[in-house]
Amino acid sequence: DEGEGGEGEGSEGEGEGEDQGQGEGVRACSPARIGLMHRLLRGRTAAAALVTGSSLLAARAAAATESAEQLGGTRGEVVSNWSATHEASPEVYFEPDSPALVERILHFMHEAGRRVRVVGSALSPNGIGLSNDAMLNMAHCDAIVSVDAKAKQVTVRAGARVKEVVEALRPYGLTLQNYASIAEQQIGGFIQVGAHGTGASIPPVDEQVVAMTLITPALGAIQLSADCEPSLFRLARVGLGALGVVSEVTLQCVPAHKLVQRTFVESRAEVVKNHEKHLAHQHMRYMWIPHTDTVVVVTCDPLPAGDHKLSVPEVDEFHATAPLRELLVKRTASVSHEDARSMNFAQLRDALLALDPLSKAHVVEVNKAEALFWERSQGERIDWSDRILGFECGGQQWVSE
Ligand SMILES: Cc1cc2nc3c(=O)[nH]c(=O)nc-3n(C[C@H](O)[C@H](O)[C@H](O)COP(=O)(O)OP(=O)(O)OC[C@H]3O[C@@H](n4cnc5c(N)ncnc54)[C@H](O)[C@@H]3O)c2cc1C
Repeated sequence: DEGEGGEGEGSEGEGEGEDQGQGEGVRACSPARIGLMHRLLRGRTAAAALVTGSSLLAARAAAATESAEQLGGTRGEVVSNWSATHEASPEVYFEPDSPALVERILHFMHEAGRRVRVVGSALSPNGIGLSNDAMLNMAHCDAIVSVDAKAKQVTVRAGARVKEVVEALRPYGLTLQNYASIAEQQIGGFIQVGAHGTGASIPPVDEQVVAMTLITPALGAIQLSADCEPSLFRLARVGLGALGVVSEVTLQCVPAHKLVQRTFVESRAEVVKNHEKHLAHQHMRYMWIPHTDTVVVVTCDPLPAGDHKLSVPEVDEFHATAPLRELLVKRTASVSHEDARSMNFAQLRDALLALDPLSKAHVVEVNKAEALFWERSQGERIDWSDRILGFECGGQQWVSE
């Protein structure tokens, strides 16, 4: 944005002055524009210039690795993403336990012209947080800093995991507005990818970010919010880890609430016919079982006030998993009836697919058994929103996004 850039350059002197005055502390929000965006980008250009290759760089890099170890960096780590589809062997791996240490690490690596990639729980199917350069994981910066019950806001360090934040909110009668299917993400990774739950009218999670602290290589810690560097705030909420390390986040929450979940199956033709109607539910998702005409539809809506009786009995999971269990025992001698009885739906499906994953005929047979499982799993369930909205994705998987 040229207009903004000009403004930034114009007020640069003021920004530099603040830098000196504030030392390494968090850069407080200043009413005057300080052209952060430009200076961030210039910082990156400076780093890139360093990397343009000289023997000096190699010497610096070697020295940096040595001193990186003094900052807690370790070598020889191998990191893979959740689905084990991507792997990296970073030269140095940091797990700092305070934002101050993050700042020192970034400053040090920046001076040495070294790249650092920040990773969360490494769940992303494309392994976006992995790198063979240096990596930094915020897992030890995981404190729940404060809960403001009146404003319904929670402030956490970016390494706190979604499931820990949910538990911290429970005593206050608060919860997050929406959930992804799992709750293992670090809050940093959760917002940086703009994670989403279901529900056509519910925004992705980055829109719940009220304020955040971003630690940058060139400028140290910067506070961002709608009032404080708003354009950088908008970009940095979904920065994919490219603008700096998010160290602290304030999230807008909602009152804790129960949902009624309905699971039913439809044919593909019925889904096409009913799609608009389904979209009206607060949350709704489809799961089509390939090679069958079965589409699982799951809708969730707030529990109506007053008494609510389940319209259908709860699902009998043992009965529902019978088709998968019987197929598994029939197809392999290595699993006994006894073993199969102790396996849940996801374990049964994983074990079945693993028998012959590249045989289409086999996959078709497994999927037909899965379709039967879902037909028997139609029903209603009531629980707190965080327990309803998370769901079993079912084992290792390639995800195409
Ligand atoms: C089984 C499964 C189910 C899933 N279901 C859903 C779903 O329902 N909805 C959905 O939206 N997603 C879903 N995902 C994807 C997952 O939610 C996202 O990939 C996740 O939010 C990433 O969080 P993470 O902590 O693992 O981050 P990582 O994968 O480690 O990193 C993701 C990105 O965030 C950056 N990052 C991480 N921490 C920081 C930080 N502190 N500061 C700056 N940048 C940072 C990284 O550099 C990287 O670019 C699912 C993934 C799996 C494996």
